[in-house]
Amino acid sequence: MKIFTTVQQIQTEIIKLKKYGKTIGFVPTMGSLHDGHQQLLRQARRENDLVVLSIFVNPLQFGPKEDFSTYPRNLERDQIIAKAEKVDYLFVPKVNDIINKNQTVHVEVDKCIDVLCGKSRQGHFNGVATILTMLFNITMPNRVYFGLKDAQQAAIVKGLINDFHFPIQLVTVETVREADGLAKSSRNVNLSSKERLEAQHLYKSLQKAKASILNGEHCPEKIIATIKNHLLNKTASTIDYVEILSYPNLKHVKKIAGKIIIGLAVKFSDTRLIDNIIITVDKEVL
Ligand code: AMP
Repeated sequence: MKIFTTVQQIQTEIIKLKKYGKTIGFVPTMGSLHDGHQQLLRQARRENDLVVLSIFVNPLQFGPKEDFSTYPRNLERDQIIAKAEKVDYLFVPKVNDIINKNQTVHVEVDKCIDVLCGKSRQGHFNGVATILTMLFNITMPNRVYFGLKDAQQAAIVKGLINDFHFPIQLVTVETVREADGLAKSSRNVNLSSKERLEAQHLYKSLQKAKASILNGEHCPEKIIATIKNHLLNKTASTIDYVEILSYPNLKHVKKIAGKIIIGLAVKFSDTRLIDNIIITVDKEVL
């Protein structure tokens, strides 16, 4: 595994490789790698000649009151995991190397941002799309791998790739969970033991909602109330949002039908956790 810390080094190498027609699978992350990231790396390994992993805690996607400074960082451990997953190139840029202080152009996301995390994290997806545009240009991947744990992000990346004509295939990967259902996340290490125990109820509330839909409940407000009640009864977290939308275009629905996402975000002390399920409800049964 080769490690690159500057844009110029990795770009030179990638341009060279492209001449030999090698396919590149790219997995962008913020590090503190866990099984979720590893799942993306494994799929990239199976489908490409070369696997490029980036680790970059992107300051542009954190709001001023968010956890940029306390976001978990563990580069030594990440390198061991990356090597074990047979990553070819690990790209770990410094902030100043990748982000020009006097940047002239930023990417602005127009659609899909008035809901879910886009609503509660103003500017977040502009920061994500701006950095991804840079990383796609630097790593020139054939395929990029994104987790459905961040389903809104995946929908926006789909738009970015289509709208900006990146010759890239988007591959999405199912959410990897702990044994009790909690979605794996780098932020889970910041939970106290009590919070960690309660955090299983994020997924449990989503499962309860799914069961209720399968039992014939198709009113979004009622399902949202079921989830909120479950979270209020079983956790001491503060609910940021619980929403039911069509997927992937993220529009509010009057009745639950077709492909929908049930997404939620809560805060345990300073730790913000998100989760979602995407289900297809047969229109015929309504
Ligand atoms: P992050 O490091 O949190 O920015 O995540 C990097 C990538 O890993 C994103 O595409 C995430 O959606 C994906 N990811 C994070 N957690 C999980 C998980 N539990 N299961 C699947 N993919 C995940």
